[in-house]
Amino acid sequence: MKNICLLGSTGYIGINSLRVIKDNQERYRIVALGAGKNIDLLLTQIKEFKPRFAAVINSDLANELKSRLNNTSNTEILYGTEGYIKIATLSDVNMAIAAMTGSSGLLPTFSAITAGKDVALANKETLVIAGSLLMSESRKMGINIFPIDSEHSAIQQSIQGHSREDLKRIILTGSGGPFMDLSIESLSKVTPEEALKHPNWSMGRKITIDSATMMNKGMEAIEAKWLFDVEMDQIDILLHPQSIIHSMVEYMDGSIIAQLAPTDMRIPISYALSYPRHLKGELPPLDLLDIGKLSFGKPDKKRFRCLDLALDAGKIGESMPAILNGANEIAVNAFLEGKIGFLQIPQVIEKTMEKHEVFPINSIDQAIEANQWAQSRAKKILEKMVGN
Ligand code: MG
Repeated sequence: MKNICLLGSTGYIGINSLRVIKDNQERYRIVALGAGKNIDLLLTQIKEFKPRFAAVINSDLANELKSRLNNTSNTEILYGTEGYIKIATLSDVNMAIAAMTGSSGLLPTFSAITAGKDVALANKETLVIAGSLLMSESRKMGINIFPIDSEHSAIQQSIQGHSREDLKRIILTGSGGPFMDLSIESLSKVTPEEALKHPNWSMGRKITIDSATMMNKGMEAIEAKWLFDVEMDQIDILLHPQSIIHSMVEYMDGSIIAQLAPTDMRIPISYALSYPRHLKGELPPLDLLDIGKLSFGKPDKKRFRCLDLALDAGKIGESMPAILNGANEIAVNAFLEGKIGFLQIPQVIEKTMEKHEVFPINSIDQAIEANQWAQSRAKKILEKMVGN
């Protein structure tokens, strides 16, 4: 029996993790749930999974949750970063699922690692901000980080049983998002509503916009660099609109190993929880005859500038990926609020990166500092941009 703390339980990955856990109750037990503001859904989850602890974002919501539970449950309610850290480090937790959005997941995830918990990681921002630190700490503690990201799950499956020294490169596939074929002119007029419609995956708002700008793919390259200990120039990005091949690994002799699966996050979630086993799932099998053709293309870095910015940040290393992340969070938010256009997202990020002098990240405080510096700098750049 694996005891699990699920951070981000009311988000897209959280909801799907609970579906996987519900289907395998003889293997997994929910000990704690961490959510943000959606206490309606959290309330339902508490009633169903009866965790010992639940944490929300602030004391007001914690009080509201307590009064709505009205002594009908034994779940202890905590709040804030301290609450998330406490549930991620409980002595009987074996694994923390890190499925919070953005940089808010950094501290709880890092705390879980330093407390010796395995981590199933959906929150790629944590690796972008503090990859080197997270990886060295996980080696020190002897814990595993299992990716909950379809691409990295595919890579992990494709390196099973192969010799690490034979690995030549990683081929990271991406659908290209909803705007793959749009011209620069059309891209400049894209609305948040249009960007929130992804052709193959339904996901949270932040990651859906990141997919549309291809920032998500760039961040995934940085994520792959850390998870699989490769150099940035060993990672190639390949467009694959059908999202059937979730990524590939090429070996020295020219062999390429790929993983194919339906586009459903329950598959990478299930593999992260049950690694190295592939447990029975409820999904219909992949019908290759029905799909018929798989096609590939090259990403257009001119139209999707965020991809290049992320790859550059990954190559520069040190604090730069944290800067990329912090600026991106602000820019995406501004786009969602209708303050800037789609093509201004990379402009905000690029200007923030230009203003930054990199420094090494040797502590979690430095990682947070870099991310926050980028956020406040990006806000200033944004004010100027919108003011004009
Ligand atoms: Mg992905």
